[in-house]
Amino acid sequence: MVVGVLALQGSFNEHIAALRRLGVKGVEVRKAEQLQDVSSLIIPGGESTTMAKLAEFHNLFPALRNFVKMGKPVWGTCAGLIFLADKVVGQKSGGQELIGGLDCTVHRNFFGSQIQSFEADLEIPNLASIEGGQGTCRGVFIRAPAVLEAGPGVEVLAVYPVPPDSNLVDPLIESQEGEKKVIVALKQGNLLGTAFHPELTADSRWHTFFLKMANEIEEGASNSIVTIEGS
Ligand code: GLN
Repeated sequence: MVVGVLALQGSFNEHIAALRRLGVKGVEVRKAEQLQDVSSLIIPGGESTTMAKLAEFHNLFPALRNFVKMGKPVWGTCAGLIFLADKVVGQKSGGQELIGGLDCTVHRNFFGSQIQSFEADLEIPNLASIEGGQGTCRGVFIRAPAVLEAGPGVEVLAVYPVPPDSNLVDPLIESQEGEKKVIVALKQGNLLGTAFHPELTADSRWHTFFLKMANEIEEGASNSIVTIEGS
């Protein structure tokens, strides 16, 4: 399996190193045609406006959208999650081009600016499908986004309580009953999104989870080809 890592800007080296620790080759993707040589893709964190401008400059959006539509596994971390969202709020002006595909609304800077970056332990009950997936993981949140609302086809993998001092008065949050929470990790079919940065920790479980998900999708795809050929 060859995992592509979008290498326009941000923490792509850290993702490649995390994959290497698991014995998997990660290759830098900067051009549309390079997507043909990879079976899955990681979109790293960084700064989504800059990344979008670079992706536009290199005319990458049509190929990236096609990759998502083909059902190939894609994981977006932080700015990468913003890229994958169908809807983004909290943008300063004009908005930015997105890949889309993940049925959710993301607030781009939900947790505030750089100085409000933080770490927190997150419950990850739905990661039990991988070895050692139980318990908690350390979430590194850097100018982090959060998912305010997700569609019915989305599996929620981790949530985080809205900080009491949050000055965000989004109606999507206000309308929640009881303790108010935002989604910080989610999965929908071939798409995985995390608002935090697993590639900046020594914990490989999120990379393992993505590789397992990618394997299952690839196996499913090759099985269905066999069925078509045999029919
Ligand atoms: N909130 C940032 C953005 O809009 C993303 C931050 C990150 O990727 N660490 O791009």
